Amino acid sequence: MLQNEVERRHEEAEAHIRKTIMNEFCEIMHKSGLPPMAVMRLAARSIGMIYREVADAHSGPEACPCGWRPNEVVDVEVLGMALMTACERCQVRDLRHMRIAGTA
Ligand SMILES: [Zn+2]
Repeated sequence: MLQNEVERRHEEAEAHIRKTIMNEFCEIMHKSGLPPMAVMRLAARSIGMIYREVADAHSGPEACPCGWRPNEVVDVEVLGMALMTACERCQVRDLRHMRIAGTA
């Protein structure tokens, strides 16, 4: 598969999952009245629980035949890094906007 094709699939998947989670996030905020960080924490926990379920389905004698096998230490580190770098990127973007606004 071409590198561009791989990147395009990643971008499409990210856009889809981000839109879905954002919609649910807003709906849950309105329905529950919980503060943003409480809902964020629940969303992060849900990703962890989904990882647990998928990893369990790919372990043991009844493992999914697709061939993926979880490596819990590495996988959890990858998920943690993805969360941290995604948060950092937003901060950098905000700072840039502030700088542009400040010099305009
Ligand atoms: Zn599988």
